Amino acid sequence: MSGQLYLVPTPIGNLGDLSQRCIETLSQVDFVAAEDTRVSIKILNHLGLKKPMVSYYRHNTESSGPEILARIQGGESCALVTDAGTPAISDPGEELVALCAEAGIPVIALPGPCALVTALAVSGLPTGRFTFEGFLPMNKKNRKAHLDSLKNETRTMIFYEAPHKLCATLNDLVTWFGAERRISLCRELTKLHEEIRRTTLGEAVAWYRENPPRGEFVLVVEGGVPEAAPAVTLEDGVAAVLARRAETNCSFKDAVRQVAKELGLGKNELYDAAVSAQK
Ligand code: SAM
Repeated sequence: MSGQLYLVPTPIGNLGDLSQRCIETLSQVDFVAAEDTRVSIKILNHLGLKKPMVSYYRHNTESSGPEILARIQGGESCALVTDAGTPAISDPGEELVALCAEAGIPVIALPGPCALVTALAVSGLPTGRFTFEGFLPMNKKNRKAHLDSLKNETRTMIFYEAPHKLCATLNDLVTWFGAERRISLCRELTKLHEEIRRTTLGEAVAWYRENPPRGEFVLVVEGGVPEAAPAVTLEDGVAAVLARRAETNCSFKDAVRQVAKELGLGKNELYDAAVSAQK
């Protein structure tokens, strides 16, 4: 396993979610790059492992990244772990993966706990198509731009949020998506006090105004209703029949048949309208 970077997911609340493969990888790598060594040491201690550690966190990626890369290029293997969940998803790691990939270093991502996937699965909202939005920016202008970009989003949207910012975020979501939009608030997933609140944005605002939020949250918001395609009129059909006749050598009847099928119009109705239009 020399000269490789392993992305090792850690539990988001339940130690039982640490997989056998993660444990084996942690025991075999040469060193661990941790978002917070104080957090990760607890997991290593729990597993009875002693490993050299380096810290790799939001504010030292520029200096620590190249150092980690150099060690991997020198033949060592590294496990990247963050405070909870899958490294590189809304936590440090994205840059290190890019750096290693660019340098031709194999990056092996182990599957495991990830708050967004767990929340989506339990949300009760459509899971077929979704978009992960991470944390909304705090900067007013960037926040508005981010929310504006979601105004017509029809896929289920997933947000991460800290408890002390939850009420402000819910207020903004009501402003952008309306009070009736459905939301599933997934709190303390996999932990003792796990709670899934399936409600509307308006009701969520009212609830958390009275019950101050505590713990970690993932917000899963229903997508908007797709705008209905403009209805095709008989006049559109007639224009299409005449255009089809002008562009091809097909007969009048064939043009009517083709266009009626393509536009979902009644064949006889379209035929009569097209005949009248030619008079
Ligand atoms: N990399 C992590 C992952 O794979 O989900 C996410 C890290 S991000 C810095 C932390 C955010 O994830 C929290 O603010 C919260 O929105 C969400 N989160 C993490 N653990 C959670 C849990 N047990 N229940 C609900 N949300 C959680």
